[in-house]
Amino acid sequence: MTPITKRIGVLGAGQLGRMLAIAGYPLGQKFGFYGLNHDEPSALLGHMHVQSDDTQSLAKLVEFADVITFESENTDVELVRQIAQTTPVYPGEKSLYMSQHRGREKGLFTQLNIPCAPYQLVDSLESLHQAVDKIGLPAVLKTTTEGYDGKGQFVLRDATQVDQAWLEIGGRELILEGFVDFQRELSIIAVRNAHNEHVYYPLVQNVHHQGILRYSVAPARKVSDAVQKQAEQYMLSLLDELDHVGVLTLELFETAQGLVANEMAPRVHNSGHWTIEGANTSQFENHVRAICGLPLGDTSPRQPLAAMVNIIGQIGPVHEVLKQPNMSLHLYDKAERAGRKLGHITVLADSEEALFDSMKTLSAFLPQG
Ligand code: AMP
Repeated sequence: MTPITKRIGVLGAGQLGRMLAIAGYPLGQKFGFYGLNHDEPSALLGHMHVQSDDTQSLAKLVEFADVITFESENTDVELVRQIAQTTPVYPGEKSLYMSQHRGREKGLFTQLNIPCAPYQLVDSLESLHQAVDKIGLPAVLKTTTEGYDGKGQFVLRDATQVDQAWLEIGGRELILEGFVDFQRELSIIAVRNAHNEHVYYPLVQNVHHQGILRYSVAPARKVSDAVQKQAEQYMLSLLDELDHVGVLTLELFETAQGLVANEMAPRVHNSGHWTIEGANTSQFENHVRAICGLPLGDTSPRQPLAAMVNIIGQIGPVHEVLKQPNMSLHLYDKAERAGRKLGHITVLADSEEALFDSMKTLSAFLPQG
């Protein structure tokens, strides 16, 4: 093995692991995955260890790996703690622990003076009524853990909905957040390695529908240097506080009063997929570099504008994308299912007009239009 080659073990075997491996192979890295079955998107990209095949499958992955990383913020913290006794796990336990609970996350934002919505944890109908009195309406009620793609959420607009909201998503710990009156949703991706080098991608704008990210535009239009710097400053405090190694993503609301943090993810992120073609170094390659202790790569965009459009539910006639010189197709080898992210398309453009025209062309052959 060359001095920079490492064996990377990934907990999870979905599309993020797949794209990490695709980015890591040119650097000579080797990959192993710990997944649920042999059909997962990463399965053919490295040594696959399937949970149900063998009681030793996790131990085998750990034995294979020089360094372990994970695909999901819902990875078991206790498991990571145990693995870390013998093999480095990046990002570390603290980043994982903080980002898998919305209450802890908001507590951390508050401690670091990163603005976020007012919030209150609730664990009963009575405490929900009290929280509504304190926070006011409208407000967003969410499960504290395991919510993703808008699942486990209820927007409370008036007090008559409180009982119904508790019935629908209650019976477990919830968080009530004040409703943020935002102009648009942004996110920023930062990367830090163990030598305390850190780099930042430009803020991107994210457009969701029914809680699922539909597309991102990178860099977000009309972001002043001051706003970009502010976002980087928030990331720097998070990276430092968490002693984070790897990619860290922060989702933000842009409001008339400035940036308001929503949530963070200690991993490569859907809103960073544009970086594969759109930036000098992709988020995936930078994550690999960071966890392997290598110098981080330049995060500058390669052209004025990029968009990343998710392929959701159905693949449709996306081969049409291959005829477009400024578009790139990524399919994750997943079966079609409503609401499922099956792939994405990156569009590169020289100007806003050119991007708008390309998005119009693209909408004609995306199933969801
Ligand atoms: P989340 O799972 O926290 O990312 O929430 C999913 C989506 O719900 C976000 O992308 C926002 O569009 C919306 N949302 C979440 N929290 C709030 C909030 N406190 N105020 C307004 N909209 C919110």
